[in-house]
Amino acid sequence: MGIGRMGQGEWLTTTLDSLVNWARKNSLWPMPFGTACCGIEFMSVLASRHDLARFGAEAIRFSPRQSDLLLVAGRISIKMMPVLTRIYEQMPEPKWIISMGACASSGGVFNTYSVIQGIDQFLPVDVYLPGCPPRPEAIMDGLIQLQKIIEQDSMYHYKLNESSGQ
Ligand code: SF4
Repeated sequence: MGIGRMGQGEWLTTTLDSLVNWARKNSLWPMPFGTACCGIEFMSVLASRHDLARFGAEAIRFSPRQSDLLLVAGRISIKMMPVLTRIYEQMPEPKWIISMGACASSGGVFNTYSVIQGIDQFLPVDVYLPGCPPRPEAIMDGLIQLQKIIEQDSMYHYKLNESSGQ
């Protein structure tokens, strides 16, 4: 990206990818899928003390069709997994997933047949947040990590996926 002055005006050069990624990373619309205590912890990060609006991610949506970030917070049972998968499928591209806490990422202490031992067995997780539960600062750090991933993305990638039917 380049910035310069010419006469009275200012000008800026960039690539279309950089411009689109800049807009995307600063206007994430998260959809929390909270099933347990991690979901409660996530609520605190939305309060004024932590101010998620600084990252442009405060517009929480409870409709997958209006969201581009699925934030899974809590343990997922085998019976719940098809519901979660369906919700992910209903989200428009491009979309990302944050797996919040030990339970969502690995089953946590629930090493039992009825709990999914990591949602990444079924869904493409972009960022994992360690902890039980992760602190609000960790959630914000995960958001920054996701923004870095989005920065590296390319619109061409989604065109390829569309044409191949993925
Ligand atoms: S990781 Fe800990 S805080 Fe989060 S849902 Fe599991 S038991 Fe609860």
